[in-house]
Amino acid sequence: MHALAVLQSEVAGCTRCRLSQGRTQVVFGSGSPDAELMFVGEAPGFHEDQQGVPFVGQAGKLLERLLAGIGLIREDVFICNVLKCRPPGNRDPQQDEIDACESHLFKQVELIQPQVVATLGNFATKLLSGRPLGITRVHGQEQEAVLGGRRVLLYPLYHPAAALYTPAMLKVLEADFARLPELLGRGAPEPVPEVPPLVLPAFDDRHVSEPDAVQLGLF
Ligand code: URA
Repeated sequence: MHALAVLQSEVAGCTRCRLSQGRTQVVFGSGSPDAELMFVGEAPGFHEDQQGVPFVGQAGKLLERLLAGIGLIREDVFICNVLKCRPPGNRDPQQDEIDACESHLFKQVELIQPQVVATLGNFATKLLSGRPLGITRVHGQEQEAVLGGRRVLLYPLYHPAAALYTPAMLKVLEADFARLPELLGRGAPEPVPEVPPLVLPAFDDRHVSEPDAVQLGLF
């Protein structure tokens, strides 16, 4: 069994936050467990909660159209959300829910080992970049990040649900999306170097004259 499938069965019973009480099921994510490209949206909506699959509504149709434009289908990539359970009435995720859920996402990145993680909208972008800058400021600007102990290229995009209603935003999303093949073509980012344990040599002060020692702040 793939490690991602093991994680999925663990997360299926998650009760870390209040959203577990109102959900039909956990929406873990779907696609290739070995994807080079991963998409992270916000949270499941009504249809996702019913079907257990992310991005199955209108926003999902747009995501599939954008993927087709770069020669991909959803089975080629991995699609998931910051929150794995549906917030009631599709309200915004709350910070304590994000805090409770984020390690599921980090573990997914660790197991899938994508080259590029495309964040869809503000919630995923702020969480994964660790910065408060909104999507309007940072969309289309790739940046290296260490996620789940791995170096990845983070690529913020407008959320397809927002682009559905704003033609100007859709144009920008399409243009940003068209750069994905180039980003994927850069290959895997360098692995995070293992930091060797800091071994300090035993201090030998025989060759340090007193003024030097004073300068070094030893006395
Ligand atoms: N569907 C999802 O799965 N996530 C979103 O963020 C929006 C729609």
